[in-house]
Amino acid sequence: MLERPVLIGSEIYRASTYGPKHPLAIPRVSTTIDLIRALGWLDPAQYLDSPMASVAELCRFHDPDYIAALQRAEETQSVTPEDRERYRIGADGNPVYREVFRRPATSAGGVLLAARMTARSGGIVHVPGGGTHHGQRAKASGFCYVNDAVLGLTAWLDAGLTRILYLDIDAHHGDGVEMAFADDARVTTLSIHEAARWPFTGTVHAPPHVLNFAVPSGFNDTEMRALLHGAVLPLIARLRPEAIMLQCGADALEEDPLARLALSNNAHVEFVTAVKDGAPRFIMLGGGGYNPWTVARCWARNWGALNGFTAPDRLEPAAEAVLRGLTFHRAAGRNPPEHWFTTLADAPREGPIRPAISTLAALPEILGAVA
Ligand SMILES: [Zn+2]
Repeated sequence: MLERPVLIGSEIYRASTYGPKHPLAIPRVSTTIDLIRALGWLDPAQYLDSPMASVAELCRFHDPDYIAALQRAEETQSVTPEDRERYRIGADGNPVYREVFRRPATSAGGVLLAARMTARSGGIVHVPGGGTHHGQRAKASGFCYVNDAVLGLTAWLDAGLTRILYLDIDAHHGDGVEMAFADDARVTTLSIHEAARWPFTGTVHAPPHVLNFAVPSGFNDTEMRALLHGAVLPLIARLRPEAIMLQCGADALEEDPLARLALSNNAHVEFVTAVKDGAPRFIMLGGGGYNPWTVARCWARNWGALNGFTAPDRLEPAAEAVLRGLTFHRAAGRNPPEHWFTTLADAPREGPIRPAISTLAALPEILGAVA
């Protein structure tokens, strides 16, 4: 058993961008780790640098021809019309950028390391660069080139685990992970995401081991708590998983420009705290999140939750400087509110539990099906 939570990061994220006009123009992993360090929340002994996954490791899930195309795209910084059409590299918001092979291979390497470390001995590992849940076997999708979550879950299966739970609280449906394990009863996937939003899948449950909670816009902290206690925790109690992986996309938070949900980062902290000890092995990933302040504050707090740290009322100068150093070329970046620089915890966003959520949260027949 790992004595303390481990954080697996990499410097590859610091200067990497999908291009100036892309939602992933912004730094996220580097800012999160800088903020965690500035808070004094990371003992150097808890940090590991992510290895890059090898081609053979990537091909445990991905098509070798697709991985070769990704390497070609990085080498030539271009894509042929055939590769674009077939593999969606350089199309659909999946640009050719400087580290288009090495960066995804690093996120995969980090999650694979986390899976192998925990498979052996148990423990808690955070990989903020992981969470590329849209990646498919032979094509890029939704800003994701490889699916590091699928690779990590597969490594757990290869280590002999047979009862695994994948939880996904990104604003978008975790379609790539669901698809990869839809016919494998050893992995239960549960995704909470915005209804009627890209990729427009995840609208129904396919019990016993595919569960989807498509929530309406404006989804608030109270409603997330209702799903946590009404569905997620009872599922964990029934399933008694040997391992849990949680994808923590920060795009379900209110200030995110790509979704219309309304969580505060308190909902993330509450969720992480409630599920992290639900299995002897726990991996927490990043995911989406397109407002740089929202992402860094949320993910830093999530790491704090793994370690028993609570957010200070006001940030010390070193942590504040990390947040003041960010720029954001979207509307929200023109006049960012002061509390994005000076605090870590959002104001709570409690609200009514709407009938759509009550219906979703009351699912004895679904829970019965996974018994
Ligand atoms: Zn997302």
